This record gives sequence, C-alpha cells and structure tokens, in this order.
Amino acid sequence: MASGDWQRRLADWLRGRQGPDDLATFCVNVAIVVVVVNLFARTSWLGWVALALVVYAMFRIQSKNLGSRARENEAFLNALGPVRPWVQNPRAAWAELRSYKHARCSSCKQKVRVPRGKGKLRVTCPRCGTKFEVRS
Ligand SMILES: [Zn+2]
Repeated sequence: MASGDWQRRLADWLRGRQGPDDLATFCVNVAIVVVVVNLFARTSWLGWVALALVVYAMFRIQSKNLGSRARENEAFLNALGPVRPWVQNPRAAWAELRSYKHARCSSCKQKVRVPRGKGKLRVTCPRCGTKFEVRS
C-alpha cells in the first residue's frame, strides 16, 4: 500500500517532465563507472565529475522543456554512431552480435546480415545483386 502510494506520487511528479531518457541513463551509468574507478584512483576531481554527471541527469529527468531535451537526446544518439545499440539496449545488442554476423558487399559496401554458425554462405547483395561468399 505504502509503496503503491509512492509509485503514484512519482508518476504524478513525472507527468509533463522528460523522465529518464537515454542520455540521462548514460550519464548515471558513466557516473557509476567513474565512482568505481575513483575507488582505486583516489583523485579528488573524479568525484566532482561523477557528481556533475548525476546533477545533469537529474536536471534532464525533471526538465519540462521536452522539445529541447528530445533534440539533445536524439543528437546524443546520432553522435554515438555504431555504438548506439550498445547504449540504448545492451542486451538486444549482445543477442544480435551472438546470432548474426555483419558483412559488407565486396562491390558496393552495402552491409548485409547473415546468421552465425551456418558455414560458408553464398550471399546475394540486396542492393547491387553481386554474389559473394561469407564465412558465418
Ligand atoms: Zn552490393
């Protein structure tokens, strides 16, 4: 009962606010890593870096300027490039890596995805139609 009340209050508070997005979650995770590193490095400034990251994440979560926060989050995700799936959903990225191999077409460099563990596969490029072999 008490915890349900707490959850309802949190939901009320989050209404109209940004909430934890990818960038905020990433900042908190980096802050945790920085704190752990600082357990060994024992520098004074790393603690401030971690604190700044958490404060920025809190600012994002409570922000009511949804348009700006959404644009920043999108810019952040685009800047990640190929690392993006690992930040957004590491479990799905890991499953993808384990079940599929990514290869490039030998003539047009189009990326193709083939299932792993099927031996040598003959692939037809979906873009230019070139046939090439991939060890899966
Ligand atoms: Zn091709």
